[in-house]
Amino acid sequence: MIYADNAATTKLSKKAFISMQKYLLDNYGNPSQLYSFGQESKKAIEKSRETIAKIINCETEEIFFTSGGTESDNWVIKQFDDGVLTSKIEHHAILNSCKKIKNVKYLDVNNNGLVQYKNTQVNGYPLMSVMFANNEIGTIQPIADLAKFAHKNGMKFHTDAVQAVGHIEIDVKKLDIDFLSASAHKFHGPKGIGFLYANKKCGLPAFINGGSQEMSKRAGTENVASIVAMATALEEINNNLAINARHLKKLESIVLDKLKAAKIDFINNSKIDHLPGLLSISIKGVSGEAILHHLDLMDICISSGSACDSKNKQISHVIKAIKVPAEYAKGTIRISFCANNTKKEAQIISEAIIKSTNLIYKKRQL
Ligand code: PLP
Repeated sequence: MIYADNAATTKLSKKAFISMQKYLLDNYGNPSQLYSFGQESKKAIEKSRETIAKIINCETEEIFFTSGGTESDNWVIKQFDDGVLTSKIEHHAILNSCKKIKNVKYLDVNNNGLVQYKNTQVNGYPLMSVMFANNEIGTIQPIADLAKFAHKNGMKFHTDAVQAVGHIEIDVKKLDIDFLSASAHKFHGPKGIGFLYANKKCGLPAFINGGSQEMSKRAGTENVASIVAMATALEEINNNLAINARHLKKLESIVLDKLKAAKIDFINNSKIDHLPGLLSISIKGVSGEAILHHLDLMDICISSGSACDSKNKQISHVIKAIKVPAEYAKGTIRISFCANNTKKEAQIISEAIIKSTNLIYKKRQL
């Protein structure tokens, strides 16, 4: 099998898996218990918090463990129920959380997916929330500029960095971010675990009531093993950001060059500064879903949009927002490589896409 849908989820890193085993089989003590067996678990949690805080450059007490990106996003958005300024291309974790908010403005994006915010009426929005990098097309937003704009206009700034953490360098202090959401399964950690960074000056309210875990803000016995594995995975991938990025850019070029050489008529939706290895292309006159199923028969996993949206057969809100012409929009596919993918795999995927596209064209002529 060739797996190239890493923006949907990633394979657990071996190192992360080994690190978590101990806390499942041996050191399974409850971190809230005072005997040393419990305190071993507590120590492992705090060490993981330190590791993560160091990587994104914040204080340890500014990291809160959650069940993943969706929970972190919900935690932030729902505390600003008066008003949120966000974008049209956010993940549904943000868009559907915003349905509970009184006053929401969804900013447009340009054809490259960059949020258009400069001439916006900002009164009535205590929070601005714009994703770091988009999960469908990979566009990286100018986060420092957006945070500056938010602060200048009296707003707090949140970024859903689920696709960015572990893929590009992030320094929350330098970028002046108030809240940041992350999820382990996007960087070779386990599923169902993530974190929220909240600047201590912002006074994060509690989200889940119960025991005193997570500084009494997110109750419930901690998922110790997954927390440890998340920190291990993040540390591992973060040590290789530059090498990975170089490799991933090469894989992208292989696909683009092969499609061009085969004279496939497509639009590259990931042209500008984007997540390394994420390629969204819209092929003229085909169905992205048909290509996905054809590749599935060849044991190749790619996506026809965002995985979280696989039940929705409509053209995605992101592809609509960047105004991909109708004759191309339906033919959108997303290939998202990780560092484990090889050049050979990129070639096989490209050839499979070309074959599938040409088959669809040929059938149509019959
Ligand atoms: N935000 C973005 C940008 C995502 O891509 C995803 C998952 O695809 C999420 C949030 C949700 O994260 P999780 O699966 O950890 O709940």
